[in-house]
Amino acid sequence: MARVQVLVIGGGAVGAGILRDLALRGMDALLLEQGDFCSGASGGNQGMLHSGARYAVKDPVSAKECAKESHILRSIAGPFIDDCGGMFVSLPGDDEGYPEAFLKGCGKAGVEVESLEIKEALLREPRLSNRIRSAIGVNDASIDPFSLALGNIESARIAGAKALNYQRVVRMKRGKSTVEEVHYQDAFSGEMKRIKPEIVVNAAGAWSAKVASLVQAQVPLALDKGSMVVVDGRYTHGLINRLRMPSDGDIIVPSHSTTILGTTSEAPGGVDGARASVEEVEKLRKECSAMLPGLESCRMVRAYARLRPLVDNGERGRDASRSFSIIEHSSSGSENMISLVGGKLTTYRLMAEKAVDVVSELLGDRARCRTAKEPLLVSSGAVTVRTIPNRSLERMRRKYGPRQAEVARHCQTHRGEERVCDCEEVLRGEISYFAGHPDVRTLSDIMRRTRAGMGYCQSSLCAFKILSAARKENSDENSRRLLEDFLAERRRGIEPVLEGEQLRQEIFRSYLLQGTYRLEREAAE
Ligand SMILES: Cc1cc2nc3c(=O)[nH]c(=O)nc-3n(C[C@H](O)[C@H](O)[C@H](O)COP(=O)(O)OP(=O)(O)OC[C@H]3O[C@@H](n4cnc5c(N)ncnc54)[C@H](O)[C@@H]3O)c2cc1C
Repeated sequence: MARVQVLVIGGGAVGAGILRDLALRGMDALLLEQGDFCSGASGGNQGMLHSGARYAVKDPVSAKECAKESHILRSIAGPFIDDCGGMFVSLPGDDEGYPEAFLKGCGKAGVEVESLEIKEALLREPRLSNRIRSAIGVNDASIDPFSLALGNIESARIAGAKALNYQRVVRMKRGKSTVEEVHYQDAFSGEMKRIKPEIVVNAAGAWSAKVASLVQAQVPLALDKGSMVVVDGRYTHGLINRLRMPSDGDIIVPSHSTTILGTTSEAPGGVDGARASVEEVEKLRKECSAMLPGLESCRMVRAYARLRPLVDNGERGRDASRSFSIIEHSSSGSENMISLVGGKLTTYRLMAEKAVDVVSELLGDRARCRTAKEPLLVSSGAVTVRTIPNRSLERMRRKYGPRQAEVARHCQTHRGEERVCDCEEVLRGEISYFAGHPDVRTLSDIMRRTRAGMGYCQSSLCAFKILSAARKENSDENSRRLLEDFLAERRRGIEPVLEGEQLRQEIFRSYLLQGTYRLEREAAE
């Protein structure tokens, strides 16, 4: 049976960060992810790199962690961060004592702030409501969570680690006091495999209690559902937050070619398949429009939801801390297993560092953490592709970071300079570059890596072109199934935002796909 020193379960930002940290400390590590990397909460959040300001009053521990980590991430993962800044604004009716408590909390947590005159705030963000009462500038930023998590996986692989997606851990066999074997199953072939790990790290986020239960262990997990709405176009230069106790519909994040409105907080129905409801969509638009009136008539592109894997400290939802815990399972008979709960995308690196410190102690390893200093990936050279417009090259720099030149050269050498996804301006070569990677099995995997199909048409106008660009020579993949799965996934996000003219357009699209192309069978049924 295969052996590994450290097995990481879960390929979200936290698992990917742990893998990288282990690899950089010279440990032999393998990560198993049940779906695609970054398809859990890490790929379904609001993409905000927190300055810590949001938690300055209510959750000072998390505020401090975010303040420190956001600086570190800027230095190690700069290309994946849109450092557009942020602003907190209050409106009539908001608690008038809050701004003072906010400034005090930010001071204590080390969050940089800048008090702004209303006139100055409106100059910086002309679409803000002219009813705002106060404004404070902060250094929030927008981050691409897919590129961040995938960058960690790639960096870990370069350092010698292994990572496999579409491999679900289904069973763990325990000996006297340790986990002896881990059994996992391939999502496509159904093949079962086994591995013998020295240490198991459970970084399965919302599923961590389920994974721990495989060895009758428990983790203190309080799940909380949050939904978000994607709006066509960037409405602001930077992030806008409501200057009040964290509540629903407080945050507006510009992200690539869109704006993301968030979030809500609700008790979830179950651990799988979280979906945004029409009521949540309405609430988000109403609350965010109070800060940015233009959003009342915006085109909503899609809505999505994920679960926050929060630490159960007796509080729920907005009252639960956003800090994190590491649980050692020695007391429940698994001395070689630990679990992580809580935290934020912003603090994934810190969580990983602390988890790997515990692993090192268990293994008697003395290597030090290097992830706070070493850049995620090293650039593969300057870009000199004259046939690709600068605008596209700049977009590739933001999405692929140090891999920009490699992807751009692939576009040139594979005659891939034609635009395939017009909304997100993705080129044919970008798609064929990623389609050739062994991790990539579905069109959604390509979307996570390139943004193709993520824009305002939600793949209505580009799904066929994406499929054609992704087709591998001599492949036996079932194109119809690939396309239908992709369209079904996109449709799930579109449904909660349909209204008026957009609903009519969606019905037209649906007829076209069913009638002309005989697709979306299950929808018709
Ligand atoms: C609505 C919402 C908005 C948020 N917004 C922000 C934000 O703007 N900024 C921020 O900093 N944080 C934000 N967060 C928090 C952040 O997204 C999470 O804290 C973080 O992504 C958790 O990462 P993770 O790796 O622990 O979990 P996940 O990303 O969920 O990863 C866990 C992985 O484990 C895998 N897995 C589960 N079971 C198994 C198994 N049996 N075998 C193999 N793999 C398995 C899952 O498929 C999943 O990919 C938000 C969270 C939510 C829900």
